[in-house]
Amino acid sequence: MSIPARLAADATIGILGGGQLGRMLALAAAKLGLKCHVMSPDPQAPAFDVVHRVTCADYADTDALDRFTADVDVVTYEFENIPAETATFLSARKPVLPNPRILATTQDRLLEKTFVNACGIPTARFAAVDTPDGLKAALDTVGRPGVLKTRRFGYDGKGQALIRNGADPQAAWEEIGGQAAILEAFVPFEREISVIAARSAAGQVECFDVTENEHRNHILKTSRVPAAVSDEVAEAARRATAILADAFDYVGVLAVEMFVVPEAGGHALLVNEIAPRVHNSGHWTLDGATVSQFEQHIRAVAGWPLAKPIRLGAIEMTNLIGDEVRDTHWLTVPGASVHLYGKATVRPGRKMGHVTRIL
Ligand code: AMP
Repeated sequence: MSIPARLAADATIGILGGGQLGRMLALAAAKLGLKCHVMSPDPQAPAFDVVHRVTCADYADTDALDRFTADVDVVTYEFENIPAETATFLSARKPVLPNPRILATTQDRLLEKTFVNACGIPTARFAAVDTPDGLKAALDTVGRPGVLKTRRFGYDGKGQALIRNGADPQAAWEEIGGQAAILEAFVPFEREISVIAARSAAGQVECFDVTENEHRNHILKTSRVPAAVSDEVAEAARRATAILADAFDYVGVLAVEMFVVPEAGGHALLVNEIAPRVHNSGHWTLDGATVSQFEQHIRAVAGWPLAKPIRLGAIEMTNLIGDEVRDTHWLTVPGASVHLYGKATVRPGRKMGHVTRIL
């Protein structure tokens, strides 16, 4: 269905997915007086705790999807692996933003990188891999070391294997479960950055300041803003993000992750990944900017004007992962703003909360 006009002040936004991103989106909607209805198959979904209406059902349950869409004015989502059939079903009944056709591109690393290059934006060298022999051929064109990644459903380093100089590629193929994949050249990056941007239906783009990200065991651990990059690199990163958002005719918030690579006379930027949703590296905006990524997303999908974000200082955001959530010292750190997601079960590697400090 077509994009709605500006939603009324008491409208209801449907959110597919009930994790911490859905929870923080719903809280941002409530700040603006808008209501949210969250759909998730998980009875303990963190977002269920903060909204009035919930649908706890599988995304393939068409009766549940019918009830959900009947109750909302617009549908958005907080995770990118929405089944294509669900997206099609929803789109026939209510406007879905961002447009679900974007998911087909961002769910598949091969299509995603091909799309980025077609927009004139560089990525690491890559080649499609469908068989063990194909992997050998890809290593000849891409070179070693390389990173073999499943085309679909990879996150936080899952579905990835590094192929070092001299290593047996067959082991990497088996490690990722012998699935359709891409081989990427290993990037000797100096730092990793991301740009969080909001785009309105009218094409207005508002980028947050460039964020620098540090991963531990492939999981985001710390984000710092501003990133330690030159003004030229920061501007190029924002420009690349705006180009991608325009090319998608995007409505909502997206995140673009990039590698900063030293090269003669400066730095090159290579896009690694696009997240068609609010993103962990934008959590600092809740406390460190005049508007959060969550509020910008809600404004965009509601057809409300975007805010012009102003950063409030130098910011550091630290994820609380697994057991770290039991460390209560953060509650007493002067200036620290603590966010806990209300997840009942602690598991290693699970994002349980985050802390933001304005330095
Ligand atoms: P991804 O799942 O593609 O976001 O990758 C997770 C993390 O693995 C990235 O944030 C990087 O730290 C690392 N990584 C991914 N691809 C490459 C690459 N081609 N070269 C070097 N490091 C990579």
